[in-house]
Amino acid sequence: MTAQPDGLAMTPVIDWPDLPAAQQPVWPDPEALARVQAQLSLQPPLVFAGESDNLRAELARVAAGEAFVLMGGDCAETFEANTADSIRARLKTLLQMSVVLTYGAGMPVVKIGRMAGQYFKPRSKPTEARTGVELPSYFGDGVNAIDFNPQARRPDPSRLLAAYNASSAALNLVRAFTQGGYADLRQVHAWNQDFVRDSPAGQRYEAMAANIDRALTFMHACGANPEEFRRVDFYAGHEALVLDYEKPLVRIDSRTGLPYSVSGHFLWVGERTRDPHGAHVDFAARIHNPIGVKLGPGTTPEAAAELVEQLDPANTPGRLTLITRMGADKVRDSLPPIIEKVRASGRQVVWVCDPMHGNTRTAASGHKTRLFDDIEDEVTGFFEVHRELGSHPGGIHIELTGDDVTECVGGTDGPQEDQLGTRYETACDPRLNREQSLELAFDVAEMLQ
Ligand code: PEP
Ligand code: MN
Repeated sequence: MTAQPDGLAMTPVIDWPDLPAAQQPVWPDPEALARVQAQLSLQPPLVFAGESDNLRAELARVAAGEAFVLMGGDCAETFEANTADSIRARLKTLLQMSVVLTYGAGMPVVKIGRMAGQYFKPRSKPTEARTGVELPSYFGDGVNAIDFNPQARRPDPSRLLAAYNASSAALNLVRAFTQGGYADLRQVHAWNQDFVRDSPAGQRYEAMAANIDRALTFMHACGANPEEFRRVDFYAGHEALVLDYEKPLVRIDSRTGLPYSVSGHFLWVGERTRDPHGAHVDFAARIHNPIGVKLGPGTTPEAAAELVEQLDPANTPGRLTLITRMGADKVRDSLPPIIEKVRASGRQVVWVCDPMHGNTRTAASGHKTRLFDDIEDEVTGFFEVHRELGSHPGGIHIELTGDDVTECVGGTDGPQEDQLGTRYETACDPRLNREQSLELAFDVAEMLQ
């Protein structure tokens, strides 16, 4: 039991071992951090263990080849963009994509928002220098602020609580939208009533929605009105990066006596923190949520197999998702040996393609960007490889937003490279806009057929 500065006694639910942890903020005021952690450990859970179990069961269907998973949202959520409009736009995009995939592929789609917790970012360098001034890098709104001045960039533990509160508000709204009528399939046209409607992807969507409407009217006339058409199961996931945030949000589930993270349903370990001897993999191994791990092009088949052994020793269906992010030019060579090695170990995992993080480049204007064609090519390669090996291409993991931003280049009607400056708003990596996201969903639905 550790005495806390404010007199609160906090018993960590797990006696965390002292392991090397990459990408952790250096807090200038450790006492302030301890106070915040004591407070975090007393906050109500954001999600329930039973919900995470439901997600694991849904992901088990993906592992068995009977469903597809769609993960999407911001690279970095920000407090400023945690508004009703922004959350609704992201949710709407994911609902539209999921209807396109379900209708096109005839397969249930498991929906995980990359939201309500995605406030922490790994960075390639701990500091950033501009015109001779060196300051801590921006590590996400949960750690510091993006403005380039010493005060903004100082890691501030009160931001951990702010991230918890923002996540709580976002989840509350998402639950209201998805359970309270907004996600009713009869709203399938309503989700398309804005700028996206007149775009090529929007029009394609409109035609599909008319078919769905007719099918619903027919079913209704036959007397069927299932509950599944009126609400959707929607889950929240984020990268488990800053362990000072994640550890106080691990709780013992009263039903089973097992530790679960209550900061989100699904947590993943990033490409930069997946050291098998490090604190992040140890953290993920100890919680009972469904978890993921990102695998980049440098991953050896042996390293992948070792992670699978550590993270899913009991071979529990739906427990582990491997999110591969190889790059369009590498996926066809790097992925097959990994799949073969994992399969030879007898493990059943969920395979998801992140076609964003291996395809980042810098435009002539200096903007960090991604080409729609590269993104689509990596997904195509992912499908080709899985089809060839007889495994299930189980899902996609996309950085997207519901707005009309100009961050990624291309798609049928998307921004060209010289237009990136028009509406470039991301706090970190470039996201597909609503139209590009819809277009990708149509393409993936075809690949799934
Ligand atoms: C991310 O998902 O934003 C990210 C940093 O990805 P990765 O860990 O794959 O580099
Ligand atoms: Mn990113």
